[in-house]
Amino acid sequence: MVRIGSDWKHAAALLMRGALVALPTETVYGLAGRSDDPTVLKRIYAAKNRPGNNPLILHCSDLDMVQEVAHLDGEALLLAEAFWPGPLTMLLPRREGVLDEACAGLPRVAVRIPDSKLFRAVIAAVDVPLAAPSANMSGYVSPTRAEHVLAGMGNRVDHILDGGPCEAGIESTIVGWDANGVGEVYRLGALTLQDLESQTQYAWPLHRPDAHQPEAPGALPHHYAPHTPVCLELPQPGDAWVTWSARAAEWSGEPGIRHHRISSTGDLAEAARNLYAALIELDGSGVKRICVEAFPETGLGAALRERVQRAAARPHNSSAA
Ligand code: AMP
Ligand code: MG
Repeated sequence: MVRIGSDWKHAAALLMRGALVALPTETVYGLAGRSDDPTVLKRIYAAKNRPGNNPLILHCSDLDMVQEVAHLDGEALLLAEAFWPGPLTMLLPRREGVLDEACAGLPRVAVRIPDSKLFRAVIAAVDVPLAAPSANMSGYVSPTRAEHVLAGMGNRVDHILDGGPCEAGIESTIVGWDANGVGEVYRLGALTLQDLESQTQYAWPLHRPDAHQPEAPGALPHHYAPHTPVCLELPQPGDAWVTWSARAAEWSGEPGIRHHRISSTGDLAEAARNLYAALIELDGSGVKRICVEAFPETGLGAALRERVQRAAARPHNSSAA
């Protein structure tokens, strides 16, 4: 039986010995393991049923630890100084010694310093970067509370560190630089494009997948999806209606439609904190479809919009994580 606890020292001791521990980050709950042990990394993939070509993110406690696994300089260093600790993941040239299992054999490794004191304390105690993909079965919605991990993969982890609900509630923003040194966004996330632009004074384009090179499965259309169909249409009887705007919050309701507010005031940060919990809760509630009010195209809305679109995409290829 998996144990849930709140003692980070115990979690760190288990990780040190090669255990898989689910723990909170400011984005979502991660399934952590030490990144210097190939057996541990293989167990992470197996536990999540994650395809081996979907690389992991290495979580570091400070810049020195980042420099041990990656080359951090130029614009990446500028962003690190501006946004770490925080929900920004950077694809950086990997150093020798980084295991192929950590980055799916790619020349770059994904790294970030999380803005969760608890998680950073654990990393510092283990004293090696921790690989930590979201603590959900591949393709499913990411967990934002310890109980989501327990329900979704409780029998596949050694321990769950309960640090309460995650502050941001959606995954980190992933950026990288092309061969010409031009920055691009690989995944929208909790850090907005406007945040990035405020530091670099140019607009960050979205990375365009290379037709000759398969994309990481985490970037496939169908992802972050509950089993119940998700849609962006208005609800019918039997459906759930997930809303965030103040206007929709006042909706008086219709028989047979289950109204679930993830914000009542149009606060997108609050909506982000609650979206995945809503999808997970409604997934087990017997509704026919989960209809979600459209999010704005800018700011945090862009990432939320993208997540809902991916959850709503037809699962023609659901091998993602
Ligand atoms: P997760 O750990 O589930 O948040 O997913 C991490 C995501 O980071 C993967 O799905 C990839 O899309 C992305 N990623 C990590 N490393 C690389 C890399 N070296 N090149 C491209 N994408 C990466
Ligand atoms: Mg994930």
